[in-house]
Amino acid sequence: MSPPGKACFYCERDRYRDIDHIRPIRFFPETCFSWQNFVYACTRCNQDAKRDQVWIINESGELLKYDRSTPLGTALPRGLHALIDIRHEDPLEFLALELETGLFVAIGQDAVTRLRGCFTRDLFGLNSDDLSKIRRQMRETFILYLTRYSDATRAGDPDAAERALDEIKELPHPTVLDEIRRQAPSDSRTAPLLDGLPAWPNPLR
Ligand SMILES: [Zn+2]
Repeated sequence: MSPPGKACFYCERDRYRDIDHIRPIRFFPETCFSWQNFVYACTRCNQDAKRDQVWIINESGELLKYDRSTPLGTALPRGLHALIDIRHEDPLEFLALELETGLFVAIGQDAVTRLRGCFTRDLFGLNSDDLSKIRRQMRETFILYLTRYSDATRAGDPDAAERALDEIKELPHPTVLDEIRRQAPSDSRTAPLLDGLPAWPNPLR
């Protein structure tokens, strides 16, 4: 399940050091050993940003927070978790990456989906200056490697194409590539580079 570069599944930065329980075991002890509740995360995202907190959007649309000050055994209200569950939901249905700026913007069709996208983005500081700069740089890096793959494919050199493909799969910040793929139909610079590029499985599914 390890992501490229052994990075955090939330911010795609750093080497992961923690296993995060998406649903904190303080409130969801039954998920303690549930594989579907685990992701690799860096200490910043797991221990500083998320901790064992839960945020519920209740049926009135209010955002309610539960944390260590909440008495154990408290029943949580009906509603949606504000945090995107990256084992079961696709973050790119909530957020789009602006490739020019490296910033995530909410794209949900309705207010609650947009709220969940913004909440998750802001909880982990995904639009920080350093992360957006890294994503802008990674865009150029992906295009460089995609060009190598495309050139090798066109030259009829399958071994070189395979090597380029293996390198692309190991590059950090794979969301940048996901977004390059999504935007390629309207981007004349990248569309030709993706010809014949296979899809590969999402490690979380
Ligand atoms: Zn992180």
